[in-house]
Amino acid sequence: MTTKPSLREALADSAQLSVTWELVPGRGAREKAQEHLVKMAELAAKDARINAVTITDNPGGKSAIAAYAMAVEAKRLGIEPIVHYTTKDKNRNALESELYALDRADIENLLVMTGDYPIQGYAGNAKPVFDFDAVHALRMITKMNAGAYTKLPPTHFFAGAVVSPFKSTEAETMAQYYKLHKKIANGAKFIITQLGYDARKFDELKKYVDMHNLAVPLIGNIFVLSLPVAKMMNKNLIPGCVVTDSLVARLEEEATQSNKKELQLLRAAKQYAVLKGLQYDGVNIGGHGMGYADIQYIMEKGEELSADWQDIARTEFNHPQDGGFYFFEQDESTQLNTCQPVDRTRTGSSNSSLRLKLMDMVHETAFDHKAPLYPMNKAIAKYIDKSWVKQPFTIAEYTTKTMTNQCRFCGDCAMHELGFICPMSQCPKQQRNGACGGSRDGWCEVYPGKQKCIYVTMYEGFKGHGKEERMKDKYMPPCNWDLHRTSSWLNYFNDRDYNTNKE
Ligand code: SF4
Repeated sequence: MTTKPSLREALADSAQLSVTWELVPGRGAREKAQEHLVKMAELAAKDARINAVTITDNPGGKSAIAAYAMAVEAKRLGIEPIVHYTTKDKNRNALESELYALDRADIENLLVMTGDYPIQGYAGNAKPVFDFDAVHALRMITKMNAGAYTKLPPTHFFAGAVVSPFKSTEAETMAQYYKLHKKIANGAKFIITQLGYDARKFDELKKYVDMHNLAVPLIGNIFVLSLPVAKMMNKNLIPGCVVTDSLVARLEEEATQSNKKELQLLRAAKQYAVLKGLQYDGVNIGGHGMGYADIQYIMEKGEELSADWQDIARTEFNHPQDGGFYFFEQDESTQLNTCQPVDRTRTGSSNSSLRLKLMDMVHETAFDHKAPLYPMNKAIAKYIDKSWVKQPFTIAEYTTKTMTNQCRFCGDCAMHELGFICPMSQCPKQQRNGACGGSRDGWCEVYPGKQKCIYVTMYEGFKGHGKEERMKDKYMPPCNWDLHRTSSWLNYFNDRDYNTNKE
């Protein structure tokens, strides 16, 4: 067997571009998809240039064989797997169980994500779980690695996360970048991009990470794009993946040519060259039905083309979204970015309505630990907690919050940290630490054209009051389900909610 650096080693070596190959497990146990995955993993194991295979978890929100089951097979064949570890279908206990199973199998590489919203299941659609978001999962893994929380011997997980720079609006872009800070602060050791074909956006992410000293290896996603898949991504049918009209038009032209498959692979090789030129630390290559010969071609041709990466970036990956936002000013000579951030007081939308200001004032007067009314309110809450008033008080709070925020009675309310928007009722994935990757043009992944992503609304509200940086720093713990169907106000003043029970 060929000796090759581990994924950690490859990503730590700035002189080397690491290569990972994305394999999709598919439905069933002994079907074509699983046999293909095993065969490709075996070939990847023998190629010193491929550092790991990444294995997707229920892609598109549809059930498939568990990623870790296929990862065990890949590992046995001699290639390091990266398991896509998503929080969408499992509560925190099931997530922890999976970590023990992975640890027992010596599988260390995880790509931690929220995951796509479930869209089908046996006898109807599956219940969306989303007990944790990706930041919660990263934090739990970090604690297990430190031997804390479980009080068991430390684990050795090497966990990464995903970010999408390919967002069209300022609010979505900033929501992605603010969440990136939280992912890294809570333990992400590498970052893989979502799918997109805009070199300026890849460059933006790299410059953003450098500018903020985030010190995390970046892996660029390369997907071998066929016309049917490009059209689906263009119509927003695959969450988070962005293909613009201009790229679809180019693929339509290519579809009339007899060598369209070669052209698709050539585009992937060119993307490899651009990512290498932009000094990404790695590439993650994927595409439907790709064989080992395709991967070999992309790596070899990509290396050959890498000297011309700037020309390629300008001519082949110049697919901006209409009116799309960029964090940095454009560099006219390269068509990429300067290191000068745009003046965001002159871009995007903001909402300076009085609502946030008033709600903040109420919080600062009555709820904040330093608030003048806090001691009195705490004493009253202590009294109510032990009296017959507790039940009517709880019902009154629930009724008020249901009218204003469709309250879900979690009892662990964090709305004052989140611009007075409730993630439990208004975000279908109940994200407490920032936006998932699925929004498009400001709309929620689950309700496109009908409901804005709550983090877009939140950003615009905070920006209207100059407080948008709030979204970057504060870690929001998961809900404590012991508090379900109880009064969050009583829990707050009686020191039972997340403000007291710090993780
Ligand atoms: S509201 Fe935003 S974070 Fe929540 S599911 Fe929709 S797009 Fe994702």
